[in-house]
Formats: sequence, C-alpha cells, structure tokens
Amino acid sequence: MLKQIQGLHHVTSLAANAQENSDFFTKDLGLRRIKKTVNFDAPEVYHLYYGDEVGTPGSVMTYFPFPHIVKGQPGTGEVAETYFAVPRGSLGFWKERLAKLNVAGIGEHEAFGEKRLRFAGPDGDGFSLIEVDDDTREGRAAADIGSAEAIRGFHGASFRLADPAPTAELLKFMNYQEIERKGAWTRYAVEGGNGADVIDIEALPSADGARQGAGSVHHIAFAVEDRAAQLAVRKALLDTGYQVTPVIDRDYFWAIYFRTPGGILFEVATNEPGFDRDEDTAHLGEALKLPTRYEPHRAEIEKILDPIND
Ligand code: ZN
Repeated sequence: MLKQIQGLHHVTSLAANAQENSDFFTKDLGLRRIKKTVNFDAPEVYHLYYGDEVGTPGSVMTYFPFPHIVKGQPGTGEVAETYFAVPRGSLGFWKERLAKLNVAGIGEHEAFGEKRLRFAGPDGDGFSLIEVDDDTREGRAAADIGSAEAIRGFHGASFRLADPAPTAELLKFMNYQEIERKGAWTRYAVEGGNGADVIDIEALPSADGARQGAGSVHHIAFAVEDRAAQLAVRKALLDTGYQVTPVIDRDYFWAIYFRTPGGILFEVATNEPGFDRDEDTAHLGEALKLPTRYEPHRAEIEKILDPIND
C-alpha cells in the first residue's frame, strides 16, 4: 500500500475560454488565481491554476483553455465531479450566490450523509460544494465571500466507470480505504489525508464512454510530500505493472502520469517546491510565467495568447 499518497494534489480540466474561466473561479467561487503559465507541452495554450491563498496541494483546480475546443460528452471512464469542501451551514449562501450569478445546473442533494450543492462550470464542468464538518483548512475569504462560507479546498472527486473493480483495487493500493457502499456508489477515503481525500465511484456498466472536450477533466493528480516519496510510488506502480512516465519537472511540482484501467489519467505530484518558487506570494498568478525553455519565445507566445483581464 502506497502510504505516501495524501489525497488529491490538483485536478486539471479543459475549457473553451480563458477569460470566462478565470472570471468564474476567481470572481464567482472566490478562489485565487495562483499561476498564469502555459501548457508545457503546447505553449500556445494557457495553463491557469486556481486555489487557496498559496495554492496548497489539495486545493488546486487547473485549466487548459483551448479557444476552439468542442464541449465534452459526459460518460464512463472519466472524473464526473470535482468536490469542493465548504463549512457546515454555508450551502444556503452558495445556492443564493450561484443562482444570482446565473450559474447552470444548481441542485441540492445528499449523499454519504453529506449535504451537497451541485453546479456546472462555464463549459458544463461537473462540480459539487459539500458541507464538511471537521475541515481544519482555512480557505480564502474574498470581498463578498466570508470565512464562514469560503471554499476550503477540494473534498475529493467522483469517477464514472463501466467496470469499477480494477480502479477500486488501484485506489486501495494508493492508500484509499473503502468507506461505504450505496447502490451503484462506493466511497473511498485516505485516512489522515490532506482534506481532499475522498473518491466516490459510480458503477455504470451499460453507459457510453465519455468523449473529452471543454468541461471534461483531463487528469486528476494525487499528492505526495516530496521527490523521494514520488520515486517510491513510481517504483511500486511499475512493479505492479502500470506504465508510468518518467518524472517530469512541472516547475511548481514534479509529476508522473499513468493511465488507469478504467480509462482515467492519474498523476502523482509532489507538494514541493510549490507555486511561490518563481514569484512573490503577494503577486501569485498576475504575470505570465514561462518555463525556462520557452522564455526565449516569450514575445511570440504573448502575441498568440489573448490577455486575461482581472
Ligand atoms: Zn497535472
């Protein structure tokens, strides 16, 4: 069992419009944009990061906005919803706020004993705000979102899978324990995790597979403390038969990726070095940051990317 896994590190999704995306996460949800950089494999596309004040692992929602991308088609083999944790008693505030902002897909429901508010992102992205009692994370109060309502970080995510068994087995190997079963749903959690430590799997044996597009999750990343822990995880996954990439430097963390049996792309990312490694904490996410190898092409890259107004 990979005791090094602490819960989620970040979730990365696809979007159609960078400005709309930035406005939604910073203005509507009150997260901070903690990094404005480019896709390291496609520098003509932004990579936008949102999270708490400093981008604590387990709070970080990231996006690749591709201007002409078609909408994703929900289905199996993907992350269905990303869960944000909010304090108990705050869902009424959020329901009123999101309705006033014309956010789509708002609906209240309850699952695994938790009150949830489901809503859609700008591209139909699946989200829930979930009231969590014992969350000690501070969250980030904004002008019109008080500390009694602010998002604490992720609570976790849900997967839609045609055949959950192999992915469930993998999660158990990755430090998750089965907590509860209810109908087609099973909940897994990391004990003593970073707060973003819940995964729910919905079994949908006869549903169609998802088609990735705007609003789809591209990959989901799990947190480990440091590079040593990551190397141990990588070795254990390779020994178990997973095809894992070499360690890749993503400037703000180190990453390894592997495709899971259910079709979802997993990443394991380090908590080190963090998002303040190349800019002052007070100014995170303001300037366009480029990895060193693209710095000589800054002028061309800046010409391609539409500026984002804050
Ligand atoms: Zn990632």
